[in-house]
Amino acid sequence: MFPSKFNYYAPQTIEDALNLLEKYADEAKILAGGQSLTILMKFRLVRPGYIIDINRIKSLEYIRKEGNELKIGALTRISDILESELINKEYPIIIDAAKTIADPLVRNLATIGGNICHGDPGNDLPAVMMVLNARYKIQSLNGVRYVQASEFNIDSFTVDLKPNEMLTEIIIPNLDNFSGASYIKVKRKDGDFAAAAVASYLSIDQNDKIKDVRIGLTSLGSKPFLVKIDVNFIGSKASDDVFKQISTISYESANPVSDIRASAEFKKKLAKFLTFLSLKLSLSRIKGF
Ligand SMILES: Cc1cc2nc3c(=O)[nH]c(=O)nc-3n(C[C@H](O)[C@H](O)[C@H](O)COP(=O)(O)OP(=O)(O)OC[C@H]3O[C@@H](n4cnc5c(N)ncnc54)[C@H](O)[C@@H]3O)c2cc1C
Repeated sequence: MFPSKFNYYAPQTIEDALNLLEKYADEAKILAGGQSLTILMKFRLVRPGYIIDINRIKSLEYIRKEGNELKIGALTRISDILESELINKEYPIIIDAAKTIADPLVRNLATIGGNICHGDPGNDLPAVMMVLNARYKIQSLNGVRYVQASEFNIDSFTVDLKPNEMLTEIIIPNLDNFSGASYIKVKRKDGDFAAAAVASYLSIDQNDKIKDVRIGLTSLGSKPFLVKIDVNFIGSKASDDVFKQISTISYESANPVSDIRASAEFKKKLAKFLTFLSLKLSLSRIKGF
């Protein structure tokens, strides 16, 4: 099916895009990689009156270190993330997730901003951003505000963005010394969304005692989310026994639905198993083996 009729704008600057968003607000949709939006438009599940194509705003495409933070422009393609030396070296968890997204053709167009703003519970990058303690820079003509990744997803396909706002930057703090993070996804076949996936971040001291641990879940609820982990684990030795206990919390926190990918119960079991595996991988990244 063809999309319903719309007016098309291709602003060259962030300011022009924000002006258009302010003017057309509820009737407008930002077009980034188009790998999710155009599908919805073709099925007429969304019928925006105005498309604001941000692909000409080159100032939104970058990956750079500034002080103690990694900054990624919202229009950065998934394929550019995969090719970034900096991200491969310092944030392998982002590579874990990015390389499982769709296929090379989709990844050449799809953007980090679109992946985060689309709000699909199966999008892979939000849970990763949550365990990395990332925050999002959101702009409108009224100014700039920052939202923690863990607060951004409100419900299925609903994120904390007003119609006149645009995500412009993803900001990720440097990882602590003695910390590691990883993402493990189970899918039925190449190019598919996750049946279930788990992101973990682990920070330990020189005696292997846990300083911080965060678990993020994909396709395991109505939105990607951080698992609430008891602070009692802080100070415990990072061991299989403790990882199993944390995995059980993931199992209990997961609230998936059965679908073509797997039954709800199987997905919950994946949450447990993948949490254990991801914590083991995060620990091995700290230890360098
Ligand atoms: C065959 C196929 C398989 C896929 N498999 C996976 C997968 O396994 N894992 C996965 O995570 N994704 C998957 N995707 C989705 C893909 O990653 C999407 O491209 C991505 O989720 C959206 O990115 P986009 O840049 O294409 O956004 P678009 O489709 O352009 O936009 C998506 C939504 O985000 C909004 N938006 C975009 N950018 C901004 C911004 N800067 N500020 C505010 N709002 C914005 C748009 O208005 C729209 O509502 C798949 C897609 C396809 C076609």
